[in-house]
Amino acid sequence: MSCRFNFSAGPAMLPEPVLKRIQEELTDWRQTGMSVMELPHRGEHFKFIAMDAELRLRRLLKIPDSFSVLFLQGGASMQFSMVPMNLMRHGTADYVDTGIWSQKAIAEANRFGRVAIAASTKENGYDRVPRQQDFLLNPDVDFVHYTPNETIQGVEFASIPDVGHVPLVADMSSTILSQPLDVSRFGLIYAGAQKNIGPAGLTLVILAPQTLEQSREDLSPMLSYRIQAKQESMYNTPPTFAWYVAGLVFEWLEESGGLSGMAEKNLRKSEALYQVIDQSSLYMNPVQMDSRSKMNVVFTLSEPRLEGAFLEAAEREGLCNLKGHRSVGGFRASLYNAMPEKGVDALCSFMREFERTA
Ligand SMILES: *Cc1c(COP(=O)(O)O)cnc(C)c1O
Repeated sequence: MSCRFNFSAGPAMLPEPVLKRIQEELTDWRQTGMSVMELPHRGEHFKFIAMDAELRLRRLLKIPDSFSVLFLQGGASMQFSMVPMNLMRHGTADYVDTGIWSQKAIAEANRFGRVAIAASTKENGYDRVPRQQDFLLNPDVDFVHYTPNETIQGVEFASIPDVGHVPLVADMSSTILSQPLDVSRFGLIYAGAQKNIGPAGLTLVILAPQTLEQSREDLSPMLSYRIQAKQESMYNTPPTFAWYVAGLVFEWLEESGGLSGMAEKNLRKSEALYQVIDQSSLYMNPVQMDSRSKMNVVFTLSEPRLEGAFLEAAEREGLCNLKGHRSVGGFRASLYNAMPEKGVDALCSFMREFERTA
């Protein structure tokens, strides 16, 4: 059955106009006689593509000029290592534990220094984010790390936590570009591309100038923020094609109302789906109201025996990749920027109809 709307958590769907544009330009990028994939990364053509993408991203997120933007590889998972490697100068950090991705980041940071858990919702089964007053922050740590949107548990922070003067580091893999963001509040932001940015293989890192100044100087070049920044993410061959596609996605975002337009649309999408869940006796969302994710809506069925039939019927409707993460089960609908409202409408109608006839 062909997939009409792809609810995958990542790699996730890309905007249709971006895919069309890639197709048009694939074998000959702007009369160069070369595919983007064939352009030398230090040549003028790719330099233009790279700079244009960075500029658009800076405009979209209103990134302060003094901040650095890096286009790296290795995924968000490599940032789990690079962050402590580069930033744990005194060997300590506070981590907020809100689910599987923060746990992975914590496990990695433990290799490089002493990690204190500033707040955890583990005892609540990760059904919420911690409240500001529950944070236990150490004033002398090198940074505080948190995960604004837990892709697997479907919990999201409604606002940026206040961590005083300590640099705040955020894994924004599944929420970046979904709404306007005050980048100046952060010491470092990172995100794997395959959710809301572009194809897998590209990882975005945004660094405050103080973060860069305080990062270590004695690291292997590929793992060093300083060297990657100095070399403008071209210490070696960058993932050129993924960088180009990210640029097209940024262009699409600019033409589709920017991040405030996206935020409105994303809110409407998630509210529509949560409404179906809340009004039903078959579907259940385990997350507390104020912590519900706008990007990853998780749900289970009150009658587990219907799970197989639900998935099959959804796929017959062209609604694909709704299976929840293997570690938590159930279902998950990822509603990133590229998911059109009519995709969510189709899912909502399907779910109502399935419940009615089940
Ligand atoms: C997907 C995801 C990751 C892992 O990303 P990779 O690029 O596969 O390493 C890490 N953190 C969050 C929040 C994610 O959603």
